[in-house]
Amino acid sequence: MIQLKTRHEIDVIARGGAIIADLFQEIEQAVHPGVSTADLDRLCDEFICSHEGATPAFKGLYGFPGAVCVSVNEEVVHGIPRPDRRLVSGDIVSIDVGVRLDGWCSDSAWTFPVGEVDETTRHLLDVTRRALDAAVGAALTGQRVGDIGAAVEGIVQGTGLAIIRDLVGHGVGRDVHEDPQVPNYGRPGQGALLREGMVLAIEPMLAMGTEQIRTLDDRWTVVTADRRRSAHFEHTVAVQADGPRVLTAVTDRVEA
Ligand code: MG
Ligand code: MG
Repeated sequence: MIQLKTRHEIDVIARGGAIIADLFQEIEQAVHPGVSTADLDRLCDEFICSHEGATPAFKGLYGFPGAVCVSVNEEVVHGIPRPDRRLVSGDIVSIDVGVRLDGWCSDSAWTFPVGEVDETTRHLLDVTRRALDAAVGAALTGQRVGDIGAAVEGIVQGTGLAIIRDLVGHGVGRDVHEDPQVPNYGRPGQGALLREGMVLAIEPMLAMGTEQIRTLDDRWTVVTADRRRSAHFEHTVAVQADGPRVLTAVTDRVEA
């Protein structure tokens, strides 16, 4: 069932979302060759917990061992932070962060280049980022969930990249994962109606090669089947009468 949120509830989610936005600015400084994925996890954990009432929403969620998911190169999502997984120049690293604040969740992911990355990797990051922007722009009252997916497809078409279809966005609220599912493909005018008060995690995941994915033996890490690279960008967005409100972006920060 789709739970609509009040303006006040959306403001609380935005406060949690602003923590993630600020965190990503810190992470951008911390992502460099030699740093381990466990180092990044610790930075995220400490940063989130330094805000009163905030906790990392993914810690222990379904048994996940990290505070955040840290996925390198061919890892699509759900990478487990490890002290022996050190980044090298040319890698890309996706960090997926959930914050729970005063009982409400926000969810955002960003893929960062490590040092200098090659041109095909920059293309992957650029298109995935643009797909997120287009998808957010489609989150309008009166549109449907299929319009969001169609917006992703519209950006990706002709780029040579593949949309990972087995993983989807979702509603966000009291729980990290709520209805509806928000696929990164779809037909305009199809699917659940977008209504004021819906809060959605919109999260395109694109790959350089196949869209097929596998889960590693650690039972968490999802990789592309051909081990080519994948990128992931995600915002938590409120559907409002005056347009989509991005709750996990610095620009929407409400200063106390
Ligand atoms: Mg996420
Ligand atoms: Mg999500």
